[in-house]
Amino acid sequence: MNIFERIVSGEIPCNKVLENDDFLAFHDISPRAPIHILVIPKKCYENFQVTPPEVMVGLSSFIKEVAVKMGLDKTGYRLVCNCGENSGQEVMHLHFHILGGTKLPWDNTNGANTHDKF
Ligand code: AMP
Repeated sequence: MNIFERIVSGEIPCNKVLENDDFLAFHDISPRAPIHILVIPKKCYENFQVTPPEVMVGLSSFIKEVAVKMGLDKTGYRLVCNCGENSGQEVMHLHFHILGGTKLPWDNTNGANTHDKF
């Protein structure tokens, strides 16, 4: 079981924000913004690429509910979904990062050469 499956099963605690039958939102243990929440489906899909589109219908509604609960619908937020090796995805269980609580800098290049491939 991956770490998020262990959180879903209750084996590992989390700082829960919102839950329904299919989805769970909890605070990231290592926040990169004043508000940093992870949203996951309770059922494990390895990443976004292999997730059935119908799962995303419920997940996008749930993300909006989380945003409203945290007041982020008013101030704005960023959604991040790392997918696969080049993205740096660490936990192989679909998750969206909701980042907010401040003006977020916009520089994801991290030193990567953006001219070679595009
Ligand atoms: P990613 O790099 O997109 O796979 O993101 C994985 C995220 O999971 C990271 O931001 C971690 O800080 C977070 N994380 C790992 N373990 C836990 C945990 N037990 N509770 C909350 N967040 C976690």
